[in-house]
Amino acid sequence: MLIFRKPIEGIDRPQMPADVVIVGGGPAGMACALRLSQLIDVHNAKNPESQRSKENIYVLEKAREIGQHCLSGALLDPRSMRELLPGFEKEAPLDAEVTKEAVYFLTEKSKFKLPITPPPLRDHGNYVISLNRFVKWLGGKVEETGITIFTGFAGSELLFDGNRVTGVRTDDKGVDKEGHQKSNFEPGYDLNAKIVILAEGPRGSLTKQLVQKFDLAKNANPQTYGVGIKELWEVPSSRIAPGEVIYTMGWPLTTKEYGGAWIYGSKDNIVSLGFVTGLDYADPRLDPQRVLQDFKQHPFVTKLLEGGKMIRYGAKSLPYGGWWAIPPVAGNGWMILGDSAGFVNSARLKGIHLAIKSGMLAAETAFEVLRNDALKKDDSSAATLGDFQKKVESSWIKDELWKVRNMHQGFARGFYAGMFHTALQMVTGGRGLRNRYPAKAGYEHMRKLAALPADGGAEAHLLGPAKGDGKLTFDKLTDLYHSGTKHEEDQPSHLVIHDTNICNTRCVKEFGSPCQNFCPANVYEMVDDATQPSGKRVSLNPSNCVHCKTCDIADPYQIITWVPPEGGGGPNYDGM
Ligand code: SF4
Repeated sequence: MLIFRKPIEGIDRPQMPADVVIVGGGPAGMACALRLSQLIDVHNAKNPESQRSKENIYVLEKAREIGQHCLSGALLDPRSMRELLPGFEKEAPLDAEVTKEAVYFLTEKSKFKLPITPPPLRDHGNYVISLNRFVKWLGGKVEETGITIFTGFAGSELLFDGNRVTGVRTDDKGVDKEGHQKSNFEPGYDLNAKIVILAEGPRGSLTKQLVQKFDLAKNANPQTYGVGIKELWEVPSSRIAPGEVIYTMGWPLTTKEYGGAWIYGSKDNIVSLGFVTGLDYADPRLDPQRVLQDFKQHPFVTKLLEGGKMIRYGAKSLPYGGWWAIPPVAGNGWMILGDSAGFVNSARLKGIHLAIKSGMLAAETAFEVLRNDALKKDDSSAATLGDFQKKVESSWIKDELWKVRNMHQGFARGFYAGMFHTALQMVTGGRGLRNRYPAKAGYEHMRKLAALPADGGAEAHLLGPAKGDGKLTFDKLTDLYHSGTKHEEDQPSHLVIHDTNICNTRCVKEFGSPCQNFCPANVYEMVDDATQPSGKRVSLNPSNCVHCKTCDIADPYQIITWVPPEGGGGPNYDGM
């Protein structure tokens, strides 16, 4: 029987008081910590009689090292960093400034260059970065301030007092596969915090708990997602200049699926390439990792990579839903930042600058609470943290997202309808045919096998696992090897399937077990089992998990919950 990970009940846990706990040490969480420190420094310089301490401000990061779980294309729009650390360009690890960009539409064998680059994809002045290296650098800045970053600690549960969030429980360590305490067992800490800030990245597990508990998404569009599958390549010199950016639409996707590719030239002949597939496709046999392998077989891409070597692999989901899919971002004791909230501009394929800005605005809100506390005024009530909501709505985050508020929804009926809506939205300031286009959750678009052509029809080339030739294309396990993923093997599964009967009886027949296809890390397998009426049973390899959250998002029955594994486990996205 599969045993799933959950905090052990009925034990004494160490209690730790905290002013602010930031869950997640990505760009949003680090920017938040850094801005908070800056504000405290200014306050302390002006108010010697009411000093504010940074001692009780903590960042929890589930990776063993800062930045290890950070993956993105990545292009950095420097706007928010210039506000956070003026002159940051002089010391930050920026690989190349963008000097050239192009957008292509691909058919199977040909390519057509768009005569003009659409305004959202004009990237002059942005920087090609490794998000992993960038966040490591930013984390170093936070550490210099005296704020404590706990690496290898995941937030496993939120603590509540009535309708107020009062803290975070960290993960239990040293629990075996059967759920028993091992000799090295250490219970998680209860960090009792005045303010909890969730910066967990896309589909955050605590954010999901919070949204469900308070039904926060009731007035928002359902969030929709894509999954980006990325490979880093070392190519022979002069194939692509550092700072050259290429986007593609079209092949290998058909006009029914949403998505596209990026190719960024970086320094030292490194190329970042990847394919984002919208997690709202119809055919459950579609495999996003295979989509990237197919993409590389286009003559245009093959020529670029020929003679090169794939050096890293990874995957991450990203929220596409835009402004209308963002839930309330502040409440009683809590705030939500970055990708966890849905601050991503899907037209620009960018969210890092928005994550950083949201972290800064949350820090300004949290600081007001701490300052009032120091001055013995009132407190971290929902009304005070509600300022964060107002700050977001009056900032350039809203200006930017408002102009593309209906972008992804416009593609619900395929590529051509999507291009029509996009053009209309561009001339109407994001409105298009109506102010708010509705949306369906991505998994609701998935169709049962009985309703699809047995041979896959026009999508046949996207279905099932990639075999890989070992040079240009790779099967999942070969790719996975390049993600550096490692977990403690002897622990309960952190992929929680709430009813495995559904997997073994219904899903296998109705959808053909799409978990085997959409997971980019071969975590899910349907193995033979004569005791099951279907002859199949779901089996998990949680140690392979690259923490992309796709299963939590795309499962058609919504019975999978991703929870953090024992802290320290996961991919190693060095240089990604
Ligand atoms: Fe991603 Fe889920 Fe597979 Fe982990 S198990 S790699 S979160 S799809």
